[in-house]
Amino acid sequence: MIHDITELERLESVRRDFVSNVSHELKTPLTAIRGYVETLLDADPIDGPTRGRFLRKIRRQSSRLGALVSDLLILSRIESSTEPPEKILDLRSAAGEVLSLLGPASEERGLELVAEFPDEAVEVLGEEEAIRQALSNLVDNAVKYSSAGGRVVVRLQAENGRAALEVEDEGPGIAGEHLDRIFERFYRADRARSRELGGTGLGLAIVKNVARRHGGGVDVESERGRGSTFRLWLPAAESAE
Ligand code: ADP
Repeated sequence: MIHDITELERLESVRRDFVSNVSHELKTPLTAIRGYVETLLDADPIDGPTRGRFLRKIRRQSSRLGALVSDLLILSRIESSTEPPEKILDLRSAAGEVLSLLGPASEERGLELVAEFPDEAVEVLGEEEAIRQALSNLVDNAVKYSSAGGRVVVRLQAENGRAALEVEDEGPGIAGEHLDRIFERFYRADRARSRELGGTGLGLAIVKNVARRHGGGVDVESERGRGSTFRLWLPAAESAE
């Protein structure tokens, strides 16, 4: 009997890469935290401002660890859920809630957050928490990567049995060579910027998994220096049924 194990081997190598990436991502903030704690313990005497600076760095690295673990849990929950989504939910109100949660952050960054929603509900069959997470990741990225004075437009429409959510920003854009890969776990087009902004590198992988699990998809149009438009679509409730 001959078994073709090519696919099994590929999956095993994907798993190995993932474990090694996760370990690396966890190790970096942990090493930094340990370094600051040891300096605080050894330095004698340590002046107030330096102490404060080190403690703030420890806080920042711990938040980074927290965000990473939380995104890993979300990803694993989505990937391991086997039940077909069966609850009807209105994307318009889910997106509205996401926008009001992210409103303060975008105001703080001097951005204009615009919602272009239809008058009627846009229903899809889905898991509310997962969908809300996907919407939030897209809008959060648009806000995070934009610079002050920019505009972020969130458009929602129902068309041909699909619900489509578009998030358009005027941020730095993404160079063509990265576009195929940014939905991969831990792939970053601009590593330094993602780190500085507290990114985990998992946001778009979560969006892609949520879309796939609901029988939908996600894509991006972007050019360096010209902003980005991410488009998430899901089958409308009646066609999904
Ligand atoms: P991160 O936590 O690093 O933001 P994501 O998975 O959400 O991770 O995104 C992957 C990468 O795609 C980011 O590191 C960034 O380089 C790029 N990216 C995502 N959204 C945008 C955007 N709206 N504008 C510019 N670059 C983006």
